[in-house]
Amino acid sequence: MALTLLAIGLSVGNKIHQADLRITLLSDALGREDRLDQVQRQLRQDVGRLTRDAEHGVKVPDARWAVLHERIAQFRLRSLQAAQAPDRRLESGSGIIQEGQQAVTVFAAASDHLIETSRLNPSGIKTAMPHFLGALTALEMSRSQARKELTLAIGLAAESNRRNGRRDIISVLLGGLGIVAIIFSMAIWLRRRLVLPITIMAARLREFQIGESDRDVPGLERPDELGDLARGLHEYRKAVESRRTAERRAEFLANHDMLTGLANRLLFENRLAHELGRSARTGDVVAVFAIDLDAFKAINDRLGHAGGDRVLKRTAQLLSSCVRGDDLVARIGGDEFAVIQVARSQPAATETLISRIFKMASAPSDEGVAIKMSVGVALSEPGQTGDELHELADLALYRAKADGRNTARIYNKHLKDEESRRVRLARDLENAVSANEFRLAFQPIADVVSLKIVGYEALLRWRHPILGDIPPDIFIPIAESSGLIRTIGSWVIDNALRVASTWDSKLSLAINLSPIQFRSDGLVTELCDSARRWRVAFDRLELEVTESATLLGFQRDNVLATLGELGKCGAKIVMDDFGTGHSSLSNLKEFTFDKIKIDRSFVATMHDNASSSSIVKATIGLGKSLGLIIVAEGVETEEQLFLLQQWGCDQVQGFLIGKPAELCSVACVEAVI
Ligand code: C2E
Ligand code: CA
Ligand code: CA
Repeated sequence: MALTLLAIGLSVGNKIHQADLRITLLSDALGREDRLDQVQRQLRQDVGRLTRDAEHGVKVPDARWAVLHERIAQFRLRSLQAAQAPDRRLESGSGIIQEGQQAVTVFAAASDHLIETSRLNPSGIKTAMPHFLGALTALEMSRSQARKELTLAIGLAAESNRRNGRRDIISVLLGGLGIVAIIFSMAIWLRRRLVLPITIMAARLREFQIGESDRDVPGLERPDELGDLARGLHEYRKAVESRRTAERRAEFLANHDMLTGLANRLLFENRLAHELGRSARTGDVVAVFAIDLDAFKAINDRLGHAGGDRVLKRTAQLLSSCVRGDDLVARIGGDEFAVIQVARSQPAATETLISRIFKMASAPSDEGVAIKMSVGVALSEPGQTGDELHELADLALYRAKADGRNTARIYNKHLKDEESRRVRLARDLENAVSANEFRLAFQPIADVVSLKIVGYEALLRWRHPILGDIPPDIFIPIAESSGLIRTIGSWVIDNALRVASTWDSKLSLAINLSPIQFRSDGLVTELCDSARRWRVAFDRLELEVTESATLLGFQRDNVLATLGELGKCGAKIVMDDFGTGHSSLSNLKEFTFDKIKIDRSFVATMHDNASSSSIVKATIGLGKSLGLIIVAEGVETEEQLFLLQQWGCDQVQGFLIGKPAELCSVACVEAVI
């Protein structure tokens, strides 16, 4: 490119130089012509002066004539030389030059002749003069002609020089433009082929470095060095990507629960600490939800581990679908879940989330087993640690469970007092048996038609020395959770049989058994021993168990085996609180009960609630078809009794028949009857 530009420059320079040279030569020739003109004028004057002198008779020395001859010869020679000059010949046609030379020669000859005439015969001057003047005029005309030509040639040369100059400038400009265009195109090409791909590669690499791009490196298909570079980068990216994936996976595994994909305890605790720190600055309130599935062990026993896992996954999905994007759902372990919810308007946000969770959980599902859960919530207060907050949520959860499960409780001061009360009761229960604080009340069970009492249910009473009567609904769950129910249960068995031993031998004795009592192997032996000791026939015994204790509970097979054994010994097995557990009707297939007790909640509402009355009617019908005895409990009114009689129920229990009372002997029993 530079060479082309240089060549163009040199060529233009050369042309300009040539044109200048030509003009210079022409100007030189013109100068020569001028000088010869002067010489010629001088010669003419000198010839004129000398011839005039000679004509007037003035003696002109020979030497002056000789000098004049000499000058004429010189003039002639210079004129001929000027005509011979190469530039002169170039510029003028040979005709003009010849004419000029001839005119010089004629002029020289005429001058020489006039001088000789003047020197030798001055009288002949008059005759010779016209010839001289004619030659002079011819010479001047020829010279004038030559000058015109030279002037014209200079004009033409200057004009041509200007034209050439313009053309050269245009060609230089065009050449320059061409070069600029070539440079520009090359720049575009370079940009497209090299710079742009490299820039994109660098950009992709930067995006990738900060983890923002998963687009491919451009130019992978190129066969050149840039293609090699792109492929190299691609390989590098793949290696880094797989390392990152492994890191992410390791991090995920460390912070998440594998089964459900939810956050695990570690992530939960870290996030909780973070949110509490942040809320101290923002003034937000952090709510911790402690969530436990109800009867998960029973579900696991019933459906096996795979079924249990499915329920856990469904629960995880359900909770995740209820919360907002910035809330955190975690699986803390087993069937324990937790949620962190940060909001400004509490407890409104908490209440909304609770109702959403229960609404979703109660929505019909194809999966069969309904998800029931208990929820405890605690709201943060300034200066609280994550552990403290979680503990309070657990406390509220405990309350929700104690209040019948499948419900939620939000922690408050009152709950705290209740918890202290619970702790106190748990402590005091330990001495209740030895301190003789328990009593048994017996509630009659009657035939629905004759209303004749067919037996009694033993119901435990605890009179606390300071707090007074504590309802069994309060202290039994505490005794169950502390394990004391075994000791208390033994006390109940022994004392109930002791009392029953005093009754009419036709009267049955119903004893409530807690699921925990089935966990110790000695239950059958204990019952048999006690019955033998008090001489109560085993077939008078009715053992009341709830569905969760039997069919859904812990060690289900063992429980069913124990019940089977007790049944073989002659005791009747009664399903208590029928209708409140899980899929009650289908459970009846799993174990042959002798009796079913319809829960008092259905009886209480069957009058004005169509679904309650349907359940009662259906249960009676089912019991009949299976040959079971159906008992309705909680019968308080004549109307209820009437309906139960109409529907064919077998037995009734409730305040209408008799309230639980402390009976101690046959006499008492008879008095009641
Ligand atoms: P449950 O086995 O369903 O006992 C019947 C409960 O219903 C008793 O409450 C009884 O007082 C109440 N009841 C009876 N008839 C009526 C009525 O017409 N209307 C109303 N509103 N209630 C009526 P209680 O004695 O407070 O016992 C509550 C629960 O405590 C029992 O429910 C039982 O699950 C548990 N429980 C009581 N004693 C024992 C025991 O010795 N061992 C075990 N494991 N649990 C027991
Ligand atoms: Ca009962
Ligand atoms: Ca009951």
